Amino acid sequence: MGKLFVVATPIGNLKDITLRALEVLKSVDTIAAEDTRHIKKLLTHYGISGKKLISYHEHNEEEMAEKIVQILEEKDVALVSDAGTPCISDPGYRVVKKAREKGIEVIPIPGPFAAATALSASGLPSDKFLFVGFLSNKEVEKEKQLSHYVDLGYTFILYESPKRVVKTINSIKKINQDADIVVAKELTKIHETFIIGKPSQILEYFEKNPDILKGEFVILVYPRKSQELDIETVLQEAKKLKKEGKKTKEIAILLSQKYGIPKNLIYDKIVDLDV
Ligand code: SAM
Repeated sequence: MGKLFVVATPIGNLKDITLRALEVLKSVDTIAAEDTRHIKKLLTHYGISGKKLISYHEHNEEEMAEKIVQILEEKDVALVSDAGTPCISDPGYRVVKKAREKGIEVIPIPGPFAAATALSASGLPSDKFLFVGFLSNKEVEKEKQLSHYVDLGYTFILYESPKRVVKTINSIKKINQDADIVVAKELTKIHETFIIGKPSQILEYFEKNPDILKGEFVILVYPRKSQELDIETVLQEAKKLKKEGKKTKEIAILLSQKYGIPKNLIYDKIVDLDV
């Protein structure tokens, strides 16, 4: 029985390929690719020839998964997507699932992943993050999704088409105008650009530089509660705690820990609070 190698390929710069990935692409007879034109370019660049290329994509994945598993019953297959890591906002999942169901060994060959590439250079908090891929095309649903991610409070990463970047930043502005945003464009390519700022600053930049809205984009969002909203919420909570008999100093410490606002600031606001 063969093995299924899930091989990550470059997201732009063809040099971003691992030695292992090249070794695997050289060794297998068959490469299952999302669009065979992309992999041909990569193989030609590295002087790899004589491979049987089969195409699988979103619309024929189920049927192709069967075929790929049949080939795997005899020999190794490398699975690649158009760019980056297969199965991540890309097809491939059904092939891997079917291979696993048949007891075929699946070996990941790690490499480029646009979300991690963008996050690593964003300067946004990255100890905890959420990758959400493409959001819904429908405005209402998209805003619902965004509200949920904003509430979680840690950096979230989305993929977006150039046509919808402005709309999506507008939606983020509506939900969290103080969010810290990084828009990473054309990663690893000649026109790689990072645009950093609050939603309104990003929108202003796009207005002044409309030509930038071409290519591939990753949007990273670090949600921030607005100071006004925090103070309002804090005051309500402080009132409640005062009514329960807690001392001002004690309340300031409690709320400072809860909301990450300096305790002196809270203390000054609540010291004369009527309950
Ligand atoms: N499997 C890929 C990965 O590992 O990142 C993602 C494929 S998904 C179909 C394509 C989306 O990934 C693009 O629309 C864009 O949002 C993002 N992307 C891929 N390459 C990129 C690049 N070089 N720069 C910025 N974003 C990129």
